[in-house]
Amino acid sequence: MQTKVYAAQSPTTPLAPTVISRRAVGSSDVAIDILYCGVCHSDLHAARGEWPGMRYPLVPGHEIIGRVSAIGGAVSNHKIGDIVGVGCMVGSCRHCDSCDDGLEQYCEGPHGWQQTYNGWLDGSGENTYGGYADGITVDEHFVLKITHHESELAAVAPLLCAGITTWSPLRHWKAGPGKKVGIVGIGGLGHMGVKLAHAMGAHVVAFTTSPNKVQAALELGADEVVVSRNADEMAAHSKSFDFILNTVAAPHDLDAFMTLLKRDGTMTMVGVPDSPHPSPGVANLIFQRRQLAGSLIGGIAETQEMLDFCAQHGITSEVEMIEMQDIETAFKRMQKSDVKYRFVIDLATI
Ligand code: NAP
Ligand code: ZN
Ligand code: ZN
Repeated sequence: MQTKVYAAQSPTTPLAPTVISRRAVGSSDVAIDILYCGVCHSDLHAARGEWPGMRYPLVPGHEIIGRVSAIGGAVSNHKIGDIVGVGCMVGSCRHCDSCDDGLEQYCEGPHGWQQTYNGWLDGSGENTYGGYADGITVDEHFVLKITHHESELAAVAPLLCAGITTWSPLRHWKAGPGKKVGIVGIGGLGHMGVKLAHAMGAHVVAFTTSPNKVQAALELGADEVVVSRNADEMAAHSKSFDFILNTVAAPHDLDAFMTLLKRDGTMTMVGVPDSPHPSPGVANLIFQRRQLAGSLIGGIAETQEMLDFCAQHGITSEVEMIEMQDIETAFKRMQKSDVKYRFVIDLATI
């Protein structure tokens, strides 16, 4: 199936229109006409080759909302015309311990989890291409049901990565009433982290390097906002957090946040900078038995749980709509943290 896409041909070439071929609809496949796709910072890291192992042409996009245009004969969960979502994952072995636990992103099968772009299809060596495209074909297991109102769909797209990547660790480390939770970096992921932690009932503190985001972070649901470059504001929160979720996309001093955890507190990293953070000191870990952890997106079942929770609680992302041809401008603005809080591409413009 010929599909219109925007692709990077190398780490140094801007995204540009081209055509790729998608597989024919197999018996368990769902073919989707893409309506909207969010712009994740991972798209920028990948397109620019900031991470190792990128293959070109590279078609980014893993916050996909669309309408089902065709289904295979064995598909039972979706029908033609349904509004559906696809996130960061389009395949896994489906029978290892992690897959059995509904955590396909940690698949221990021979090929691991298959990413929506720059992923291996069935171990064949064939590349996968993401959602900066007019359509995509995905195994039904990795297709999510969307129950938000149709008028909200563009703002639902970022839930497929930014939403689940913050939901999964907030749930795993039990954010909720009586817990003090910090969210570091108020970008695409971070602003969803604030909204979700607030909806879970936690006391939420947003950490930002951008003084002009203070008021907006309060409106997102933060109980307090700290400008993290202000040492006095940081010190006022010393040894007080149960959990901190760090979404920052650049190397920075982790000790400044580790000291804010109380005894047995955890800071979980989800940002994946192109170069390492300065190594955190072990003393901050040892003296209060603190933990430093990481978390990768979330499984399919918990992604559906998050989408349903957001639909029930009226939660969507704050988005700025763009046309496909404006993606390079969007990337440049994202690099300067100049987006409130997620660009979403209207694929009618491809
Ligand atoms: P984003 O929208 O660009 O947000 C990142 C935020 O980090 C910025 O808005 C900014 O917030 C803060 N920041 C940026 N540069 C900084 C610096 N030099 N020092 C301190 N703070 C800085 O990016 P995103 O889409 O949310 O993605 C964030 C990171 O998560 C990326 O590395 C992405 O690849 C990664 N990611 C990981 C997973 C996973 O499964 N683990 C999933 C998706 C994305 P303030 O202006 O508030 O300071
Ligand atoms: Zn992402
Ligand atoms: Zn598996």
